[in-house]
Amino acid sequence: MSFFSTRGGAAVTASQAILYGLAKDGGLYVPAMFPPISLQKIASLTGMDYCQRASTILRTYLEDYTIPEIDAALAAAYDKAKFDDPAIAPMKRLDEGTWVLELFHGPTLAFKDMALQLLPHLTTLAARKNGETREVSILVATSGDTGKAALEGFKDVPGTSCTVFYPSDGVSDVQKLQMTTTGGSNTHVIGIQGNFDDAQTGVKALFSSAEFAGQMDKMGKVLSSANSINFGRLVPQIVYYFSAYADLLNAGAIKLGEEVNFVVPTGNFGNILAAYYARNMGLPVKRLICASNRNNVLTDFFRNGVYDTRRTFFKTTSPSMDILISSNLERLLYECADRDGELVARWMKQLKECYTYAIGEQRQEWMNDVFDAGYCDDMQCADEIRARFEQDHYLMDTHTAVASHVLREYREKTGDLTPAVVVSTASPYKFAADVLSAVAGSDAANGLDAFECSEKLEQLSGVQIPQQVKALRSLPVRHRQQCQKDQMAAAVLEAFGK
Ligand SMILES: *Cc1c(COP(=O)(O)O)cnc(C)c1O
Repeated sequence: MSFFSTRGGAAVTASQAILYGLAKDGGLYVPAMFPPISLQKIASLTGMDYCQRASTILRTYLEDYTIPEIDAALAAAYDKAKFDDPAIAPMKRLDEGTWVLELFHGPTLAFKDMALQLLPHLTTLAARKNGETREVSILVATSGDTGKAALEGFKDVPGTSCTVFYPSDGVSDVQKLQMTTTGGSNTHVIGIQGNFDDAQTGVKALFSSAEFAGQMDKMGKVLSSANSINFGRLVPQIVYYFSAYADLLNAGAIKLGEEVNFVVPTGNFGNILAAYYARNMGLPVKRLICASNRNNVLTDFFRNGVYDTRRTFFKTTSPSMDILISSNLERLLYECADRDGELVARWMKQLKECYTYAIGEQRQEWMNDVFDAGYCDDMQCADEIRARFEQDHYLMDTHTAVASHVLREYREKTGDLTPAVVVSTASPYKFAADVLSAVAGSDAANGLDAFECSEKLEQLSGVQIPQQVKALRSLPVRHRQQCQKDQMAAAVLEAFGK
C-alpha cells in the first residue's frame, strides 16, 4: 500500500511514511485506500489474543514489512511484563449498554503506550529497509502523555534518540515527574514557556526547516516524529477498536454486524481518527462522538463547519486535551474533501494565516453523518467522576469522564441507545488530585502532594495505585532544561551538546 500526503504530495511506502513522519509539503501521510476487513474476519478476531488481532489489522497497511517482522514487533511491544492486564486493552461493563475500553494498562498509564510501545520497533525496521544509516532523532511535542510514552518507547533503542518538548506549566505533577525522571542515554526533556499548541507549532516548524535538517544531518541525525501526525502512531490505534468489538461479541453484548457507538476524549484527533479508519475498513460503527473539555474548538467545528482558533485557551483538569490546533483533523478533512489535496492545503493555509477556515454546509453534513460532538467543563467532569464512582463503582480519570459526560448528553439529545463504548485514555492515578477532589469533595486534596492524593484515593476506592506511580517518588529528576517557545531549534542543538 502506498501513502499520499493530505496536501497532494507524492506517494511513499508504509515504512517511509513511518520513518519520516511528516510529508515534505507539510501534509500528513494517509493510506491510498482503507483495506476492507470482512465481517467474517471480524468474527475470527474473537478467538485471538491482542497480538494476533493486531497482526491481522497491521499487515493490511504495512505491506513492506514482513509478517514475521510485524509479529516480532508486536510481541516485544505488548509484552505481558509491561502491561498490567493480560488483555492489553480490556473492556469493562459500566451499565446496560455502556462499556469502557481501558487503554491505560501500559508502562506510562495512558493510551499513548498502545502506539508508542510499538513505534520504535516499526521505526528501526523502517530505517533498515530504507538504508537510513543516520540516527533517527525523534522530536515530540506533548500535552503530557505522549512525551513520557515516547521516552519510554525509545529509551536506549540503538540508532535513535528522543527529545520531548512539554509546556512547563501545563501538565500534571505526575506527568511532569514521569518525564523529568526518565533514564536512558538518548533522551532529552525540555520545558517550554508556552502551551501545547506552541510546542506543537514549534516542532512542526523544525520539521519543515531545511536549515535545521542540515544542522541535524551534519551531526549524523535525521528527524522523525512520534506525535500522532506519524502514521505509525495511528495504525496501532485502529487495532483496539476492532478488539473492543470482538470483546463485545465474546460477551454476547452484540450480534455480528450490529453497530456500536464510540465516544472518544479528543485533543489532537488521533485516537478518534483511528476509530474512523476502523469504520472505513468495515467495523460496524454507527456514530463517533468527539468529546472535548472547555477547549471546545472541535465541538463548534462539528456543529457549524467552521474551525476557529481565535478563542481563549483554558487550562483544565483534563490537560492532555488542552489543544486548539487539532493536527489529525487534517486527515479527516482529506476524506471530506474527496481526497483533494489542494483544497486541504488551502484550508490549512487559511488556518495558519487567518486562524480559521470554513468547510461549507454540504461537507459539514457529510461529517455529521458519522460524527457527533460535545464538551463539558471541569465542574461537570468532576460530577461525572463522582456519579460513575457512586452509582457504577467505577473510578475514571478526568479525560475519560469528559467522554462519559458527553455520551450521557448525546443519549439525552438524540435518544440513540446504540451500545456504546467509552474510550478510557488514562489511569485515574495520573490525575490523582483532581480525581480525589471529585469523589471526596473539593478540599480533599488541599495541601497534599500527588503521592498523598494517590494514597487517599486508593484507600477510598480500593483501586490499587499502579507500581509506576509509587516508583516515581524515589526517582531523581534528571532533566531540567527549559527554553522559550521561539528558541526550540537552539534548545535541541544544546541538548545534543552543540
Ligand atoms: C493524548 C490524550 C488524549 C487525546 O488524544 P488525541 O489522540 O490527541 O485526540 C486524551 N486523553 C489522554 C489521557 C491523552 O493522553
